[in-house]
Amino acid sequence: MSTQDKNAAIEELKQLDRKHYLHPTSSLKQHQKDGPAQIFVEGKGIYLTNINGETFIDGVSTLWNVNVGHGREELAEAAKQQMMKLAYTHSFHTYSHEPVIRLSQKLASMAPGDLNVSFYTSGGSESNDTAFKLVRNYWKLKGQPNRTKIISLERAYHGVTVGATSATGLPTFQAFANALAPDFYQAKPFRTNAELGDKSDPDYEGSIRGTIEKLGSENVAAVIVEPVQGTGGVHIPPAGYLQAVRALCDEFGIFMITDEVICGFGRTGTMFGADNWDFVPDLMCIAKGITSGYIQLGAVMMKESFRDELVEMTSDIFFHGFTYSGHPTACAVALRNIEIIEQEGLVANSLEMGKELEKGLAYLEQTFPFIGKARSIGLMGGFELFKDAASGDKFEPSMRIAHRFAQACLDRKLILRPIVYEGSYVVAIAPPLIITKQENDKMFDIIADAAAAMQKELGLGK
Ligand code: PMP
Repeated sequence: MSTQDKNAAIEELKQLDRKHYLHPTSSLKQHQKDGPAQIFVEGKGIYLTNINGETFIDGVSTLWNVNVGHGREELAEAAKQQMMKLAYTHSFHTYSHEPVIRLSQKLASMAPGDLNVSFYTSGGSESNDTAFKLVRNYWKLKGQPNRTKIISLERAYHGVTVGATSATGLPTFQAFANALAPDFYQAKPFRTNAELGDKSDPDYEGSIRGTIEKLGSENVAAVIVEPVQGTGGVHIPPAGYLQAVRALCDEFGIFMITDEVICGFGRTGTMFGADNWDFVPDLMCIAKGITSGYIQLGAVMMKESFRDELVEMTSDIFFHGFTYSGHPTACAVALRNIEIIEQEGLVANSLEMGKELEKGLAYLEQTFPFIGKARSIGLMGGFELFKDAASGDKFEPSMRIAHRFAQACLDRKLILRPIVYEGSYVVAIAPPLIITKQENDKMFDIIADAAAAMQKELGLGK
């Protein structure tokens, strides 16, 4: 094909995209003006290639989910084998199949504590909505139908279904929904002392504990937290926080749900985020890394004792299930994906390369006066952009500084994720867990080059 014909074909695709495709979480105006920002055609390892033949480092594992990297033939093969044998059957009316049985057994062996039972969904939002319905249903069966309230954290991201949006503590997502589901409340994040009962904390009233007291614990069904907040800007809880939330939930007899949609499957240097701290939730929502994004799958894992109580109390049918709950092909891919994570030691690599990532972030912070608040855990990290990091002086929102920084990296063939939340401009970084030291160094060389160019362009600091 001549270059001219190729360009015409690309232009046609862009026009069709603009005309017929409403993109998720995108600027609609930008899309109508410029068409799609990228059309990707291929992925291999930590790299993605677009239709123009340009190759990029995928510095955020796409949506924090391609943990085993792109282009894994083993996963394609697992899907093919399962599809040829039995592509799909449902799991309603207790119908079953081997991939879902094996995956459930496998997950039980991996999950913290006695989280030994799984219910399947097609992704994170559905998992969280399922968890909310499960705990509300539980309390109703238990004779406490008023226990419907769910407490989440400000800055939390739990997804975009109505329930998950209502739990999400990001005003932009909530505003889009216009009307939210009832009985969701957001508390101030990381008020460890307040959660332990210290009323001298100025945020005591807004803490989870303060919120429970205000609502009346007899009305609260559950608390949901991400072990590390992701989409809200990569916020790692202080030591003792998650254990304090666990203790608080125990004190009031409220369920603790963790949203491990990003953290699960090695992202934070341990198999699950919870493994970094010493606690076991009552329900744990997972998705993303369970299949490394090769196919849609999510799950809610729960304690065996929770399931046993549900069994005892449910006299009629368990009226909750998705057409694709326990999809055989998705389960087969998940099993193979977990096998890869284990065989290739990717959790250990996440921990080891996480130290390299930390070094890279420290270098950026030391070298560029407009970069600060660097943080990471395993291969989940980020840094913030300031007019002057030392004084905390911030950029004007109109500067779109996080987006400009990400664009400067993109121009240098590295994909990072800009996050803006309440005057903070964060750049998130979360490469696939297969990343090597050389690849990590290359990634930071690009970031440093982009940062140097921005510093010059904006006339900042040194
Ligand atoms: N919870 C968390 C912590 C997430 O990061 C996400 C997705 N970014 C979700 C839930 C929603 O998952 P999904 O997009 O698969 O519905």
